[in-house]
Amino acid sequence: MIREIIHDTAMLSIPADPADESDIAVADDLQDTLKANREICVGLAANMIGINKAIIVYTDTDTGEQFEMFNPAILKKSSAYEAEEGCLSLEGTRKAVRYHKILVQWDDRSMESHTRAFFNDTAQIILHETDHCHGILI
Ligand SMILES: [Zn+2]
Repeated sequence: MIREIIHDTAMLSIPADPADESDIAVADDLQDTLKANREICVGLAANMIGINKAIIVYTDTDTGEQFEMFNPAILKKSSAYEAEEGCLSLEGTRKAVRYHKILVQWDDRSMESHTRAFFNDTAQIILHETDHCHGILI
């Protein structure tokens, strides 16, 4: 189901609770809401649709395919740079320090753990959305 985007920064500043198999419907709604906004948005976190669970979805900007992560954790980051980025929950663009290479651990919707490196644009999106799970806004 396509959900309304939350713009209340007080709500968006609350760190998310861990997600589990009971939150699969949330991931489905995130996928639908990202798809509906794909012209203007490449990633969403669950608190952006009003659910305070650590789930993100992002678009692979090379293939256009959408992926989801439950409980994403950034294990390593290297090669910092200053990015300018927007957020569907916020007005305009803001500067943020991002990393060209990150190592991420996450659970899939069956609660199986995965660890993988991501680079450049995809790393930037995952960092932005994982920040949302910690209540951090750009
Ligand atoms: Zn955002």
